[in-house]
Amino acid sequence: MQDYDVIVIGAGNGGLSAAATLAQNGMRVLILERHNIPGGSATSFCRGRFEFEVALHQLSGMGTTEQPGPLRSMLGRLGVLEELSFVEMPDLYRAFIPGKLDVTLPADRAGVIEILQERFPGEKEAIQKFFELVYAYAVELYTCLRNPSAAQGAFPLLQRYAFKSAKDVLDEFFTDPLLKAVPGAYWGFIGLTPDRLSFSYLAILFFTYIEMKPCHIKGGSQALSNAILNAFLAHGGRIRFNCGARKILVENGAVRGVITEDGDEITSRFVVSNASKITTFVDLIGREHIPQKFFDDMRGLSQSPSGFCVYVGLDCEPAEMGIDASTTFILPDEDISGKQFKRMKVLDTENDMVAFSCYDVADPEFSPPGACQAVLVTLKYGEPWMRVPPAQYAHEKYRCADAMIRQVEKVYPDFRGHMEEVEVATPLTFMRYLGTPGGSIYGFEQYMKDSLFFEQPRVSPVKGLFMAGGWVANCGFEPTLMSGKSAAGAILRMEG
Ligand SMILES: Cc1cc2nc3c(=O)[nH]c(=O)nc-3n(C[C@H](O)[C@H](O)[C@H](O)COP(=O)(O)OP(=O)(O)OC[C@H]3O[C@@H](n4cnc5c(N)ncnc54)[C@H](O)[C@@H]3O)c2cc1C
Repeated sequence: MQDYDVIVIGAGNGGLSAAATLAQNGMRVLILERHNIPGGSATSFCRGRFEFEVALHQLSGMGTTEQPGPLRSMLGRLGVLEELSFVEMPDLYRAFIPGKLDVTLPADRAGVIEILQERFPGEKEAIQKFFELVYAYAVELYTCLRNPSAAQGAFPLLQRYAFKSAKDVLDEFFTDPLLKAVPGAYWGFIGLTPDRLSFSYLAILFFTYIEMKPCHIKGGSQALSNAILNAFLAHGGRIRFNCGARKILVENGAVRGVITEDGDEITSRFVVSNASKITTFVDLIGREHIPQKFFDDMRGLSQSPSGFCVYVGLDCEPAEMGIDASTTFILPDEDISGKQFKRMKVLDTENDMVAFSCYDVADPEFSPPGACQAVLVTLKYGEPWMRVPPAQYAHEKYRCADAMIRQVEKVYPDFRGHMEEVEVATPLTFMRYLGTPGGSIYGFEQYMKDSLFFEQPRVSPVKGLFMAGGWVANCGFEPTLMSGKSAAGAILRMEG
């Protein structure tokens, strides 16, 4: 008999939800996690009196108790909802361009339209029509995904817009570049600039966040990861922390188990990998067990950027600095044609778009009384950071952090004076803690050619091996948690 039915490699969102679902259904499951805490990106860390949220800015898919979204239903089935509290955020985001633009979009369809029409009265009708399209398109998209073989002609909007970039559609509807920059700013949560990003993702983002509202988790995403892990343990699951997987054992085209980084050989009938797809197939399995065609297909994809994040603990409440939106996108200018894409490939953060989040706006108890925390994120590819000599690393990281803080001061001038704790994460930090190539935080990039219409078939080239997480699902909490459930479902179906 094998040691376990299933070994799950990695305790990120995908790994945890797969493991908990399998354990709940009576399977003997072991998780191997290289880090010393569960969650992957969905974690926190402490500095001084602050517990900093690593990743989660806006959680999608929750909906309400009366009208639960897919994620709420899934967490309910895992039995973790009672342990968690969610706070609905009233706004989508504030979009700010120094001296040119300052609008806050509420998480409400009529409200978004009204705010934009007030600021851009000359394009009133176009604004109305754009959001009509976003909604109608998202509905067609979800209908099509559920029933792709529906009669030809059933999806006229998909036929017209599925292969357009977000920029194509913003250009079609709007003339004022400042207006285009407002909805365009949401690209910061997907990782590709509007000129490269499939319109489908922008539409999905607006539709789901407006319909189901962006949420914050009390206690941060670590609370969610802990709750899923506790459910897993309560169903008899086992986890080893500080214990990476070094090899996935394959015999006659089927998994046989895993060798840990400590050299232990543990056998299992199934393996679920939450590590990156590249790591899984190139390093953990090895080319000799995988058909070349699989690598040829993967070669056509590109890795998403990593992040450069500045985590700041502040000695006052948000209102004292004038912060009244949970998320502020600070844009250097109105460009949506790819200038920011080029900036993701350089070290400097001067003139980058900064996604600024202050969790205490929605949840005043998030930080200690009288304090709050903010996270400044810009997206960066890992390569320039890999070229920094070790002796210059600290200098470069604080220089780049300083440039981002200067961007923030353009919106919140008192920010620097209230800083009490600062920690900085570069792409190398994400490489270290997530184990992803180049520190990628969003898996493979979602170019039009790689958008959801062209997803690779999910047939595993190795019997008994399943993938979960951001490299097989779309990026984000909701999709990665769902991907773990799907991987578990596939195993349970095989078990009959
Ligand atoms: C700064 C930032 C901001 C974000 N903001 C948002 C947001 O606002 N909303 C949203 O929905 N999403 C957001 N995301 C994206 C979201 O966090 C990720 O898509 C999601 O958490 C990825 O989950 P995953 O299942 O792919 O696992 P990951 O988080 O990638 O975790 C993988 C785990 O596998 C482990 N591992 C890897 N290799 C091995 C090995 N060989 N052996 C053992 N363990 C291994 C790692 O240690 C890690 O714990 C953000 C991400 C970041 C980094």
